[in-house]
Amino acid sequence: MTTRVWDYLAEYENERAEILEAVDTVFRSGQLVLGSSVRGFEEEFAAYHGAAHCVGVDNGTNAVKLGLQALDVGPGDEVITVSNTAAPTVIAVHSTGATPVFVDVREDDFLMDTAQVAAAITSRTKCLLPVHLYGQCVDMAPLRELAAEHGLSILEDCAQAHGARHGDAIAGTMGDAAAFSFYPTKVLGAYGDGGAVLTSTDEVEAKLRQLRYYGMEKQYYTVSTPAHNSRLDEVHAEILRRKLTRLDAYTAGRRAVAERYAEGLGDTGLTLPATVPGNEHVYYVYVVRHPRRDDIIEALKAYGIQLNISYPWPVHTMSGFAHLGYGPDDFPVTGKLAGEIFSLPMYPALQADRQEKVISAVCEVLAAL
Ligand SMILES: *Cc1c(COP(=O)(O)O)cnc(C)c1O
Repeated sequence: MTTRVWDYLAEYENERAEILEAVDTVFRSGQLVLGSSVRGFEEEFAAYHGAAHCVGVDNGTNAVKLGLQALDVGPGDEVITVSNTAAPTVIAVHSTGATPVFVDVREDDFLMDTAQVAAAITSRTKCLLPVHLYGQCVDMAPLRELAAEHGLSILEDCAQAHGARHGDAIAGTMGDAAAFSFYPTKVLGAYGDGGAVLTSTDEVEAKLRQLRYYGMEKQYYTVSTPAHNSRLDEVHAEILRRKLTRLDAYTAGRRAVAERYAEGLGDTGLTLPATVPGNEHVYYVYVVRHPRRDDIIEALKAYGIQLNISYPWPVHTMSGFAHLGYGPDDFPVTGKLAGEIFSLPMYPALQADRQEKVISAVCEVLAAL
């Protein structure tokens, strides 16, 4: 039996009655789109973060896109982000008509190197888009300083960092708005697609509600700016309400898995994930590093363990972004990491005995290298 890098089936068995009850609640409610479940989830997700507003949307990519548009990002603007991210971060920037501008990441924690941001700012820069990658927060203080100095907005990409903290601050409350994905694999996942944007500004909230709803202020009002249909689905919203009550428990489960890896793999020569001081990591993925990554993955195939690489191709090397004009070696840390990182199985319901098999297989393979 293959141990998958992510699996929801054990969790579904534990929560099945509740999930099916959530689906039935929506089906019997008499309102299938933008009803009490979306509204209820928005209120509860905002309250979890201590944010004033949450606007549910259809997925994380559109959460980034609508978040940028609500912050007035559009054609001619530049948005500073990283190439070491999930491609949708950059696709969302592209889809607003703005130009993504990359900086490199730091070698120890794989997060945006905020020291490089000042040099990337031009007269066209409109927004900073840090990605709280793999489950921990980018250091936001230097970004907030730069934003204040240059009159820029900040959108946090929180698609991998539900509930992650830096000091007293929770991811999603450290910029002008924050985009979340509820894609099933995420730390808070729906049973299909979903997303949300948090903001504490009334004006941004009003724009988001309009942007996700064709550009209308209310149902059957006229359209001032033609926009999108990016509504969060009622069924997923109701499931997410139930799952939100367990978010901290899921994170505790992920941390327990991470601790077992740290104990079992500490002396193997693998570089294990480093938590930035002051950060509370939520381990969306468990990314390790080794110069002989490809040999390790090849050898582990025989053990029935699925491994992932997040991400094998930095966005600036993808043919779809060739028009940005970057060379393959422009971001040396990002480039080096892409050849050395891989992710071990990580999800809260990963059973300890299965994880022990992963650990012993990795130990065997590394000892034989
Ligand atoms: C998953 C992800 C997205 C996109 O979310 P979808 O719900 O799949 O559209 C955006 N940014 C990051 C960093 C992600 O990990």
